[in-house]
Amino acid sequence: MERVTVLNADAHQVLHQVSLQHAVAMLYRDVARVHEAVPGRRFGPYPQPHSLVLVSYVYTRWLYQRSGPLPCTLANVLRRDGHACAYCGRPASTRDHIVPRSRGGPTSWLNLVAACAECNGYKRDRTPEQAGMQLRIQPFVPAPADLRPR
Ligand SMILES: [Zn+2]
Repeated sequence: MERVTVLNADAHQVLHQVSLQHAVAMLYRDVARVHEAVPGRRFGPYPQPHSLVLVSYVYTRWLYQRSGPLPCTLANVLRRDGHACAYCGRPASTRDHIVPRSRGGPTSWLNLVAACAECNGYKRDRTPEQAGMQLRIQPFVPAPADLRPR
């Protein structure tokens, strides 16, 4: 599977890697733009990206500080995602690693989403693409205000 590197909005800091399909979804949603393209190749209306740069800056002091003020615990991930399953929208009670830990996926805000037990059990240690599942949301690194009860 082709991987695309995602850079922070300053175009210097590497945040993570995503699948080509995920990268194109980010382009469609205008959350990122192509930074470096694969020469001579296109993916739909876009040059095939080798790397993307985010449109708005992600504050990585929260992303990488596991013991910091905003750890991506089950309770915090559920709060960020409004207690709705990222795959089907029903009430969520678990957190899912989008890229499974068994495949090197990190325990980070951008790799975690709220999920219902059914979707999490169905997906198991597969990526959403492999499981044929669509993410309804784009995971993000929350600010404290994003985790207040709604
Ligand atoms: Zn679900």
